[in-house]
Amino acid sequence: MIDAIDIVKKFDDFTVLDGVSLNVKKGEIISVIGPSGSGKSTLLRCLNKIEEIDEGVIRIDGEQLSRHNCSKLGMVFQNFNLFPHMSAIENVMEAPVIVKKMGKKEARELAGRMLSDVGLQDKADSYPGQLSGGQKQRVAIARALAMKPEIILFDEPTSALDPELVGEVLGVIKKLAAEHMTMVIVTHEMAFAREISDRVIFMDKGKIVEEGTPKEIFEDPEHPRVQAFLKRMM
Ligand code: ADP
Ligand code: MG
Repeated sequence: MIDAIDIVKKFDDFTVLDGVSLNVKKGEIISVIGPSGSGKSTLLRCLNKIEEIDEGVIRIDGEQLSRHNCSKLGMVFQNFNLFPHMSAIENVMEAPVIVKKMGKKEARELAGRMLSDVGLQDKADSYPGQLSGGQKQRVAIARALAMKPEIILFDEPTSALDPELVGEVLGVIKKLAAEHMTMVIVTHEMAFAREISDRVIFMDKGKIVEEGTPKEIFEDPEHPRVQAFLKRMM
């Protein structure tokens, strides 16, 4: 579904992604872990065409990534990125109306269903400022789902949340997993990554240092940097 080959991304002289290759198959759930500054967010932003790559190729379903097919990828950000002046349902309707030119009535019905799916049917008319962090993140997930993406990229979806709100967001992601949604999840929630992933990727300094099944990475990591990172995290 996603085929990224030898991606290089630089900011001025600084190489943030140094030849990263990643293949994601339909229905697969991949967790990306690694220290801060290792390039995890930049990788997702390149996959979603928020950032342009300097070298390499990204293909979606065999076609080169472009502004025409990048809406096959949904994205959920650490800080929600909701429009503060729009209600929850308006946030969810926005992209179907603007990008897909869907009629407002149809988009509102769709958005209502998406909010129900994340357990927020009664918050449709609330504004982001009236919602908890966990509720905001669930609106952001509903907003991504409203575009019917083939894959959702999550960038530390629970890192900005108070601990007691993490579970409700992880619960929604687990529900998507049970529905076989294809997902790439950058996370510091090691127990969650271990439970949900088909494959775990460890990044450091712009490279994939090690990848494997959750069992391989968490029980028997080969690379000393992975061992040291996991020791700190667990
Ligand atoms: P991670 O998500 O793993 O913490 P990032 O992808 O956010 O890492 O960042 C990797 C490196 O790239 C960091 O050193 C960061 O400072 C740098 N970086 C990220 N975005 C930019 C940017 N727009 N301009 C310059 N440097 C950036
Ligand atoms: Mg990041």
